[in-house]
Amino acid sequence: PVASPYREGSRMTDNYAARDLATIAHPYANLATLPDQGPVVMERGDGVYVYDSAGKPYLEGMSGLWCASLGFSNAELVEAAREQMARLPFNHLFAGRSHDPAIALAEKLKDMAPIPVSRVFFCNSGSEANDTQIKLVWYMNNALGRPNKKKIISRQRAYHGVTIASASLTGLPGNHADFDLPIAGILHTACPHHYRYALEGESEEDFATRLANELEEMILREGPDTVAAFIAEPVMGAGGVIVPPAGYFEKIQAVLDRHDVYMIADEVICGFGRLGEMFGSQALGMRPVSMSLAKALSAAYMPISAVLIPERMYQAMVDESRKNGAFYHGFTYSGHPVAAAVALKTIEIYERDDIVGHVRKVAPLFQQRLREFTEHPLVGEARGMGLMGALELVADRATKTAFPAKAGVGAMFTRYAAEEGLIARSLGDSMALCPPLIITESEIDLLFARLAIALDRTTVWVNSTLK
Ligand code: PMP
Repeated sequence: PVASPYREGSRMTDNYAARDLATIAHPYANLATLPDQGPVVMERGDGVYVYDSAGKPYLEGMSGLWCASLGFSNAELVEAAREQMARLPFNHLFAGRSHDPAIALAEKLKDMAPIPVSRVFFCNSGSEANDTQIKLVWYMNNALGRPNKKKIISRQRAYHGVTIASASLTGLPGNHADFDLPIAGILHTACPHHYRYALEGESEEDFATRLANELEEMILREGPDTVAAFIAEPVMGAGGVIVPPAGYFEKIQAVLDRHDVYMIADEVICGFGRLGEMFGSQALGMRPVSMSLAKALSAAYMPISAVLIPERMYQAMVDESRKNGAFYHGFTYSGHPVAAAVALKTIEIYERDDIVGHVRKVAPLFQQRLREFTEHPLVGEARGMGLMGALELVADRATKTAFPAKAGVGAMFTRYAAEEGLIARSLGDSMALCPPLIITESEIDLLFARLAIALDRTTVWVNSTLK
């Protein structure tokens, strides 16, 4: 159903744009050009739609930031938060203090995880979870008496967050330039994007084999006794929605096994149904030792994240804290009771409403519609998995030549899409989609109808200004 377009009595006024520009330092914005474009002020949500301050509805094709899996008006989550806030709005987990929402959530996560889990460590964001992963690996290897086994291997184009350590894991140049990152001891191996990085005529299988060989060469060059862990998203998100070639993780895993390198799955986007399995690791055949969870863990209604800790690591944490007097790591809001209560309700809804079954039912249509753009003159590659996809725009389809970054083609596309009532996101040359998991087939049709218009308008603009 298409939401009713405009609403009387909006609480917001145009004044918000000026007040925003005068006060907010926006994350991930071009701060030089933002004043010319102005912010888009959102006011309310309904299903897969959000409404701006003028009352205009947008189909939220990105679930916010890959996170609002149950859309923008779930009354059960509101009630779960309200109840917990009224009963016990805050309590912490330091020094053995506890509360029932965190206990129940940890039990639930242990129970549903596709890997053996000893304990669950709560944080507030994906960045904090991945930062914690690095600290835990270092801590464990100190406990195990191998203080040199500390390097972490990530991948080019990976996205793992923005704290000093997690931004170092992130493999995107913008996250490093002028921030004096990455820190020492974080390495990046090749990105598994066949369309962009395969050699001329190289099959997917040969490409996967070559990347696994390159990883092994890196480990041998560095010295296996210095390499502690490898971290990967099942499908890369912010790097451009990159689905690895078939067999990739199997080959990577064999290399990691040979050198006792611990595999961490960053399930921050892919966890909780996005790829048609409860966890992305299951969809991609990964065998991680540990996982980072966030975003859809709480359907984005509250900030919360979790690190799933294996037994061997937990025992090392026990040993180290016996030596040091405590395990000195934790956030004020680790396992915040309101966030934990909302996450628990979110997972209850996923299971009760069979969200994975729903994704499996509608994802084929989503992927089919996406691939109908394969032959579009601006599209180099249409790719994706589950309810996640991207169109990579190119200046020349035959040579795969990208548009010059300064041309701003992606920004034009997302602007046209917004004018048509669709929120998409440009990640470099890739136009990403990641709609709420509750999206229906008719809403998928509407999403792609709007996208088609935006893409055609972008083509007209490209032909008139760039060619
Ligand atoms: N890992 C992945 C795979 C992500 O997509 C993100 C956020 N987009 C993060 C980590 C970082 O999460 P946060 O922004 O909550 O710190």
